[in-house]
Amino acid sequence: MKNPLKRLLFKFTGEALGQNGCIFDPAKVNYLVEEIISIAHKIELAIVVGGGNIVRGTPLKEKLGLDGTVADYIGMTATIMNALLLEASLKQKHIDAVVMSSLQANALAEPWLFKKARSHLDDGRVLIIAAGTGNPGVTTDSGAVLRGSELNVDLVIKGTKVNGVYDADPLRFPKAKFLPMLRYEDFLTQNLSGILDPSAVALAQMRGVQIRVFDLFTKGNLCRIVEGEEIGSLIAA
Ligand code: UDP
Repeated sequence: MKNPLKRLLFKFTGEALGQNGCIFDPAKVNYLVEEIISIAHKIELAIVVGGGNIVRGTPLKEKLGLDGTVADYIGMTATIMNALLLEASLKQKHIDAVVMSSLQANALAEPWLFKKARSHLDDGRVLIIAAGTGNPGVTTDSGAVLRGSELNVDLVIKGTKVNGVYDADPLRFPKAKFLPMLRYEDFLTQNLSGILDPSAVALAQMRGVQIRVFDLFTKGNLCRIVEGEEIGSLIAA
């Protein structure tokens, strides 16, 4: 099948690297790295990494009573750790990768500059984007849409634990209906926030960015998307 996608932004939750107190689970890291390697030479690839395996802002705010802004900055630093781990893991496997960070971390990562970012992709490097948008109050889902639109990607894809968007949480409501395709407005009015941050969907609507949500834990799915298979759920106009 002809590959209709040239440039892709892949966002994954930090939980794809580890969970339940194990920040970096070698089996999970290895799985993710192999999935990325399977597409690295087939497409121009940017990756936004989450931080949920280490820490997210909201629980810090709620459980420790931290100021929300401080909590979110701490959350963003978690994504820098994940980005560095992914960069090193890909390089170990001889994949050319570079980290750009939306928060200054000059000893560790290049600063986010959209022109430089585009040229990394043009040069065939896997571009790993840390620290989301660099601003508190949102999540890396918004970072994925924002950076995806700056990079003129054909599609933003979000890898999760479920195979797409349902009209209710399928783990709690077994009769929940799978939605293979939905409009931005439908997503925003149906309160489907569990699967994707609504701020990201609102931003995607404004910037005309299409988002595909898919099951990252079925081996080969990343490759299937790159090859043009319409798996998961598409959120578009
Ligand atoms: N975060 C933020 N601004 C951003 C991206 C992330 O403040 O643009 C913070 C926020 O606290 C978030 C944390 O970083 O909870 C980790 O990111 P996220 O929750 O998106 O990670 P994931 O759930 O995808 O693993």
